[in-house]
Amino acid sequence: MLVRRRTKAALQAAALFYATDRGWPVLPGAYVDQDRCSCRSLRCPEPGAHPADAVDLAAASRSSQVIRTWWSRRPYSVLLATGLEFDVLDAPAHVGYAAIHELNHLGFTPGPVVHLPSDRLLFLVRPGARDVYWYTIDHNDAAHLDVRHHGIGHVVLAPSGPCGADGPEPRWAVPPDPVDRRLPEAVELLGTLVRSCQQDPARPPHAREEVSG
Ligand SMILES: [Zn+2]
Repeated sequence: MLVRRRTKAALQAAALFYATDRGWPVLPGAYVDQDRCSCRSLRCPEPGAHPADAVDLAAASRSSQVIRTWWSRRPYSVLLATGLEFDVLDAPAHVGYAAIHELNHLGFTPGPVVHLPSDRLLFLVRPGARDVYWYTIDHNDAAHLDVRHHGIGHVVLAPSGPCGADGPEPRWAVPPDPVDRRLPEAVELLGTLVRSCQQDPARPPHAREEVSG
């Protein structure tokens, strides 16, 4: 799925908001130019969703000066480095929305959630979620379920404004709260996410029986 060009100013504003208002380190990502990823690879598996050429993951920054310089050059996509200020739980969108619905029903707000153009939801949780993720996956015999964890050494694509008319964009399924900056613990979401995956009507019936029995 291609991520279309947005203006450098809008992208810079989004990057500055994440870095200075939220304290989330950002990184310039590749971008799509004339329907091709700026890395120029015809087989790029993630157009616009990986770090720009010659930018190392360790360069992720919260400095407004660095961010202004990066986004004055190119319409880079906005990437957020995971494992520092937050980890990410990643699930198919329909599974993630079912989990959000159930959490809301229980009176719990999941915290910021990104809806990617690839139709997946990214749940931002407090960092250090790796152990609880693997414990939950093992404990629920859920290794075959499509729930992923992104911690140190990963980046995720962030929304850079409202959906444009010129193509799909990442957007907020649950936007960051303007006041409350706390993030949920992974353990508060994982059980519900795994259960939504197990009950997913799109899964083959024998797979659903296997995990529910
Ligand atoms: Zn690429």
